[in-house]
Amino acid sequence: MKAETYMKRGEQVLLHTYNRTPIVFERGEGVYLYDVDGKKYLDFAAGIAVMGLGYGNPKFESALKAQVEKLTHTSNLYYNVPAIEAAEKLVKVSGMDRVFFTNSGTEAIEGAIKTARKYAAKKDGRKDHEIIAMDHSFHGRSMGALSVTGNPHYQEDFKPLLSGIRFAQYNNLESVKALVNEKTCAIVLESIQGEGGVYPAKKEFLQGVRRLCDEKDILLILDEIQCGMGRSGSMFACQGYGVKPDVMTVAKALGNGLPIGAFLTTEKAAVLVPGDHGTTYGGNPLVCAGASAVLDIFEEEHILENVNRVGAYLWDKLEEVKGKYPVVKDHRGAGLLQGLEFTKAPGDIARAAIEKGVILITAEQNVLRFVPPLIIKEEHVDEMIAALVAAIEEN
Ligand SMILES: *Cc1c(COP(=O)(O)O)cnc(C)c1O
Repeated sequence: MKAETYMKRGEQVLLHTYNRTPIVFERGEGVYLYDVDGKKYLDFAAGIAVMGLGYGNPKFESALKAQVEKLTHTSNLYYNVPAIEAAEKLVKVSGMDRVFFTNSGTEAIEGAIKTARKYAAKKDGRKDHEIIAMDHSFHGRSMGALSVTGNPHYQEDFKPLLSGIRFAQYNNLESVKALVNEKTCAIVLESIQGEGGVYPAKKEFLQGVRRLCDEKDILLILDEIQCGMGRSGSMFACQGYGVKPDVMTVAKALGNGLPIGAFLTTEKAAVLVPGDHGTTYGGNPLVCAGASAVLDIFEEEHILENVNRVGAYLWDKLEEVKGKYPVVKDHRGAGLLQGLEFTKAPGDIARAAIEKGVILITAEQNVLRFVPPLIIKEEHVDEMIAALVAAIEEN
């Protein structure tokens, strides 16, 4: 067992911020992962909704290899071709106008928050602007993103956080309206809440928030970090609602495992100017060559079609599970972002499934989250369901 030795070494040197599942992965192939002892796992977590194209996509890998040999970093003091190409492609699929590349999701949120504050300061010269965020949201771990993350457990020991953040209830338009005042500069929410338990926005809610923002000249920031990049069945989940934000954040599947995120703005919200914001290697040629290849592959390999077809199949299969086992309370989601809510914490069920060689993760307290690579097929769904059913029956 090589794993034991590695885990022991890891625990000596890594900061213990995660209670890790005792697996040491070594390599991936398609939708399967292999650990250092050679055990094979079907991956229904995709590195937390990151590995949209799965493992070992040849076009993705050759784009990266070619870029490694050319140039990996120059800084944002200069232009680089992969960043320009990736931004052009992102603008085209999102309908947004401008892109700022970051190294992560949380940094994309930071940029969005700064955009909102700047937009408002430019408009009225005041500095006391408020942002409305949602209960049970997740936007990241840096201080700004944490401030708009509606989970007191994550926030408690790190206060004081950003001031002027107010929390409304997701899918409750009245609760949002009740918080709007003359200081409100932005409303930030996920088009589909991921970490918070897989809650899709209701259509009336998301469209209502958009209208409210238009009426009051408030920026709508949609966090598409988890639900974007095809996961919901649309390229970005908000497109499925017919809603366009003023600022959109993306990350996770954008780089298929490379550390890249972005915030995208419309022309109206493109208020940050030289000196306002920066990053040393955000959007460097290497990660942008990767993101650029990802966006090409989405088109060439018809990823959205696959998400819609296999997502519908997964939906039916999970409905059957829900119908059969009373411990399953609810089933929610869209595309290949689905969740089963249990009457109890499903940690033991996830552990039993992993024992059987299927990687499952949880969300919030009682939810199992299904976020496989976007290239999975029906047969993989069947394989996962068999392990899930056996795990439920044992627990
Ligand atoms: C993962 C996630 C983030 C944070 O992204 P990091 O890359 O971990 O910083 C922000 N928002 C949502 C919706 C996420 O799922």
